[in-house]
Amino acid sequence: MSIAERLAALKNQLTKGVQLVAVSKTKPASAIAEAYAAGQRVFGENRPQEMQAKAQELPEDIEWHMIGHLQSNKVKYIAAFVSVIHSVDKLSLLEEINKRALQHNRTIDVLLQMHIAQEESKFGMTLDRVKELLNSQALKTLENIRIVGVMGMATFTEDESIVRKEFQQLKSIFDTLKSTHFTSANSFQQISMGMSGDYQIAMQEGSTLIRVGSKIFGAREQH
Ligand SMILES: *Cc1c(COP(=O)(O)O)cnc(C)c1O
Repeated sequence: MSIAERLAALKNQLTKGVQLVAVSKTKPASAIAEAYAAGQRVFGENRPQEMQAKAQELPEDIEWHMIGHLQSNKVKYIAAFVSVIHSVDKLSLLEEINKRALQHNRTIDVLLQMHIAQEESKFGMTLDRVKELLNSQALKTLENIRIVGVMGMATFTEDESIVRKEFQQLKSIFDTLKSTHFTSANSFQQISMGMSGDYQIAMQEGSTLIRVGSKIFGAREQH
């Protein structure tokens, strides 16, 4: 199947209200152009310089989502154009995003990455940590970022019950934060969860943004 066909098949399965982020990391700009020609406008990358290079080469109406772990010193490569950063896991990173967004006279939407998997290796904050961040005085001064939701990655396992439980946990964290810290913020509405192997479970558990790569673009080389 072509990229366009795989994209069409996937779009057919989307629950109403769920947006697809086509994860194009490691894939050439030509593959993105193919998906773009088929109507896809939202793409996800995990390396700032790679995203920057592709953005320069591709149409301006693409919405670029940073989904990978982001180091503060690399925010500068994407601050001018990035649409959403999914992987915010500490205040210092938010401060850097705010500073760079301000330099470009814009506001950048961000998601708070939560640690929901059993694997140690996965990034993200605990509930205590995120509450600490949301209660901090420093956060209140950041006017060029907008927190629009949460993001998480489930454990890489065949056991669907574990994955489902982790997605339920993320949904519950979202609901908690919404009712404690974002009661009047309509913009806090995104739950980014679900990848090629588990997006169906994620949609059943309340995902609003799925991040799907290999199912659209084919397998990747290790990266
Ligand atoms: C690579 C990646 C994806 C997409 O993974 P696939 O299994 O290829 O769909 C989604 N989210 C994050 C954070 C990723 O790094």
